[in-house]
Amino acid sequence: MCLFCDIIEGKIPSSKVYENDKILCFNDINPVAPVHVLVVPKKHFDDIRDMAAAEDGVEYMGEVIKAISEVAKIKGLDAGFRVINNCGEDGGQTVMHAHYHVIGGVKLTEKMI
Ligand code: AMP
Ligand code: ZN
Repeated sequence: MCLFCDIIEGKIPSSKVYENDKILCFNDINPVAPVHVLVVPKKHFDDIRDMAAAEDGVEYMGEVIKAISEVAKIKGLDAGFRVINNCGEDGGQTVMHAHYHVIGGVKLTEKMI
């Protein structure tokens, strides 16, 4: 069982921001900024390494960046935003279905890098 697969299948509700046949984007349940959207491939990949190893992973990654751009447009993030991917245990990933956090709506100051 995977939480995000259940959300994609509609078994668990989500607050949808954007969707196409390959990607679902929904509001994070625990936002860290005024805009905090998760961009999630509709196909299950464990993480970015799993995407890289899969035959269609690069295709999905292309769809991810297009969806990020759509989310930024929908949410009016014209002044910019941040994209975060937590990968694996040391990266702080808690949901083991690859996803990308789009954070913005405020001038982001806390930078790790
Ligand atoms: P990560 O820690 O990078 O794996 O990110 C997982 C994210 O999923 C966290 O920011 C959580 O707040 C978010 N999350 C967990 N459950 C839900 C849910 N049911 N709907 C929306 N976001 C969720
Ligand atoms: Zn999944």
